[in-house]
Amino acid sequence: MVRHDWTKEEILAIYNKPLMELMYEAATIHRKHHDPNQVQVSTLLSIKTGGCPEDCGYCPQAARYHTAIEGNDLMSVNQVKAQALRAKSSGSSRVCMGAAWRNVKDGEEFDQVLEMVRTINQLDMEVCCTLGMLTENQAQRLAEAGLYAYNHNLDSSEEYYKEVISTRGYEDRLKTLDNVRKTNVTVCSGGIIGMGEKVEDRAGMLVALTTLNPQPESVPINALVPVEGTPLEEQQPVSIWEMIRMIATTRIVLPETQVRLSAGRTQMSKEGQAMCFFAGANSIFAGDKLLTTPNPDVNEDMELFHELGLQPMKPFMKKDQPKSVAAEASKYNSKGEKPKWSRPAHKIDRNEEAKEKAKLKKQEVKTI
Ligand code: SF4
Repeated sequence: MVRHDWTKEEILAIYNKPLMELMYEAATIHRKHHDPNQVQVSTLLSIKTGGCPEDCGYCPQAARYHTAIEGNDLMSVNQVKAQALRAKSSGSSRVCMGAAWRNVKDGEEFDQVLEMVRTINQLDMEVCCTLGMLTENQAQRLAEAGLYAYNHNLDSSEEYYKEVISTRGYEDRLKTLDNVRKTNVTVCSGGIIGMGEKVEDRAGMLVALTTLNPQPESVPINALVPVEGTPLEEQQPVSIWEMIRMIATTRIVLPETQVRLSAGRTQMSKEGQAMCFFAGANSIFAGDKLLTTPNPDVNEDMELFHELGLQPMKPFMKKDQPKSVAAEASKYNSKGEKPKWSRPAHKIDRNEEAKEKAKLKKQEVKTI
């Protein structure tokens, strides 16, 4: 049964069970709702990298921090098509396109993204986008183009979110998810562990996700990959045990969801990843990069699948392929909307420090 009334205390009690019991319970629920030998494989493609105006403390793409990321403008439709074909030939059933934007803006660039969605849909692959905040009309336009899923992570609990990001509010995340829900596009939303949050915050995020009705079809669980120059550069990586506990707990409280083992896999052994699959993870990102952070090579993943007897899931096993409507036949047109998303702008000390350090670095580079 899918429950939408989990309390933080109940979720904490699950998270803190003896590990073998927790894994057994999660694996049992996993088998009731999914084929445990099928794993959905997505390829994440950064279609517009860097220069982001937001201040997410974990992200090397925020323009205000000084990191080694090389930015690029929006990719062309042909570049995206070539990458999608490559992803398809190496076993991916889904392409997830990420753009480092605060929110979607109506105009040429969004029209270009809509064309990318149509193009990948026509390759018979599931298409996902992660483009920031989004209005209902923009969600409808993506749906019309043939979008299968929209990703918008809650990142952490509402309380801890304020310790990581000051340029937007949690309620806008929920509003965007709600806008996506008004279409036939599926929802992908999860978070990151290892940002310095308490276990209570992990449970708090799961409460927020389970409350959504319907629950998200996909929930990515990321382990922070600390990047030099970002406010969270000093964070210690989470242990594999924490990751297994988080995956197993997510599986138990979101039984029908695809639980996506996301960033941080390069720090995990094969055995650790296998335990995550046993505990209910049934999706991964493939490709040597996750937007900007490292990820295992596709061949390594396929070797691991072979060793474990896992198979990459075919596309559209959970939901039919969306029909893609050509731009000329579109029912939803650009409204030129300029929504006012919130900007709490409270001070987060470590974000401020990273910003100051970045300013000094940039000055140093200028004077050399
Ligand atoms: S996580 Fe997304 S919104 Fe936040 S800084 Fe990075 S690219 Fe921008």
